[in-house]
Amino acid sequence: MPVKNQSIVSIERCARHGDLEAVRTALTHLLDRIGGIESIVSPGDRVLLKPNLILDRVYTTGVTTNPQVVFGMADLCRAAGAREVVVAEGSAVGADTGAVLRNLGFYELAEQHGCRIVNFHQDTYEHVVNPMGKNIKRIRMPRSWMEADVVINLPCMKTHDALGATLGLKNMKGVIHPQDKKRFHKWGLEQCIVDLSHLTLPELTVMDATIGLEGDGPVVGDPVNLGLLLASKDTVALDRICLEIMGFDRDEIGYVHLAAEAGLGRDDPADIVVTGASVADVKRPFRRMSLDQDKLSELDIRILPCDACSGCQNVISAYLNGRQADGTLEQLRGTTFVYGQNPHLPDGATGDIVRFGSCTRTMSTEGTYIPGCPPHPALINDTLNKIR
Ligand code: SF4
Repeated sequence: MPVKNQSIVSIERCARHGDLEAVRTALTHLLDRIGGIESIVSPGDRVLLKPNLILDRVYTTGVTTNPQVVFGMADLCRAAGAREVVVAEGSAVGADTGAVLRNLGFYELAEQHGCRIVNFHQDTYEHVVNPMGKNIKRIRMPRSWMEADVVINLPCMKTHDALGATLGLKNMKGVIHPQDKKRFHKWGLEQCIVDLSHLTLPELTVMDATIGLEGDGPVVGDPVNLGLLLASKDTVALDRICLEIMGFDRDEIGYVHLAAEAGLGRDDPADIVVTGASVADVKRPFRRMSLDQDKLSELDIRILPCDACSGCQNVISAYLNGRQADGTLEQLRGTTFVYGQNPHLPDGATGDIVRFGSCTRTMSTEGTYIPGCPPHPALINDTLNKIR
């Protein structure tokens, strides 16, 4: 039994994740252990559901939220008396959110379930002050998010190139203006996720772990058929339990701990009560991103981490793996990537130098500099495509 000052995370198995009726039943059991949907949605509420629809990849790839989870939740909200249920998303920078929603069948499903779809990128944005933010004191937020009485976050469980893992806290980044998404990399991605959470902490987070994503997430990895749903009113606690299931150590994913330190939730396992299935029963370590070192040596591509945190390390790995996958890694032959908080080059370094990440800003004027903390993938492509 939870006691005062403890958060509850509910875990439910959901093997038949393509069957709406089975998913709705699993969601009901999942939520009943944390007070039921009626403890979150009151009659007359306007509810906003925020899935992860980063690109138009079907949920069986592990990249997007299972539509059965989204519309199963919509049905439960309506049964609890919601006046309106809005399904809202702003996809990845550069992606056409309308096309993503259309290609994944969300407009059709919304009509069937009596929901309204909102494309955040076509919404009206207004500036909101964020007095608790360290790096973000003021940010544009969409009107539909501000008008919601209840926000329910519906992320999926994935590895992530810059953060190690993307879960509940990170999913709310989809709410903000595309220009601010890019700026997060300039201002420091991890702290920005925490700052944003001061504004966007949802009333409930339901993690779609029916199919997760491992390897080079958040869009390129391999699906993991987990058949699980998790829920909590404490998104930080939920993220912590998800990380345990995925096999990440507590200090491995910095922003979840930073969020707990900022008072946004609990991340000490001693303060979290798990109900339903146990973590030990459902644990399934996720494969991390890795680099083909033999291939890099063959092409004389050197990466020099100089006290780097995982942000730049992961983003470089994702970038190089992407070039290998599309057959263009050869073009980087002889390139040295230097990054980290104490950047330096070995004596006699030759070839093209890429100074990667804001930590290398003051290093020297030598080579190509890519700013960002860590750099945004679009900026890396733009910069390196010009020289290679
Ligand atoms: S720029 Fe520096 S602090 Fe930022 S992610 Fe890269 S190594 Fe870490």
